[in-house]
Amino acid sequence: MQDPRTQGIASTIRVVPNFPKPGIMFQDITTLLVNPKVFKDTIDLFVERYTGKGISAVAGVEARGFIFGPPIALAIGAKFIPLRKPNKLPGEVMSEEYVLEYGADCLQMHVGAVQPGERALVVDDLVATGGTLCAAIALLERAGAEVVECACVIELPELKVSSSDLLDGCMLIPNSI
Ligand code: AMP
Repeated sequence: MQDPRTQGIASTIRVVPNFPKPGIMFQDITTLLVNPKVFKDTIDLFVERYTGKGISAVAGVEARGFIFGPPIALAIGAKFIPLRKPNKLPGEVMSEEYVLEYGADCLQMHVGAVQPGERALVVDDLVATGGTLCAAIALLERAGAEVVECACVIELPELKVSSSDLLDGCMLIPNSI
């Protein structure tokens, strides 16, 4: 049975048609963030799921993974690792390029942010094709971490492959948690 909090969470997410360009149904989580009870419910659901799982690193994907990732990390006693767009991190970085519907993008992580053998969680607001999460997983795995799961608030139906194939044994939290 779905947790009753999920309905409240889903109902606060605003869908903006044709933003930032025609044809895109933009899932706007700012309307969730201005509701402190629902924002807390969102974080609590993840914290309940990940407490006691031996996770020592939470990696958030720029930019909206930086909103949900840190409170989860603090609550479960893990470090937070920002996965950033190119040329934002000042230290030595590892890079992972990934393909978008039109063009390519790249995520970077500081070398040494995670140690081999650490158990990591990847956090983003939304999974669509899964390309961004794949790049995040690849970065962490190249550094020797084990990605336990990917946590997203929203799942769009665009997922191109099954989540188990895509995430190599990781799980998603489907449909608005
Ligand atoms: P993907 O790599 O295709 O799974 O896309 C996921 C990334 O793109 C996430 O970082 C999302 O924040 C962003 N994104 C993709 N589609 C949308 C959408 N319809 N509304 C809001 N953000 C989106």
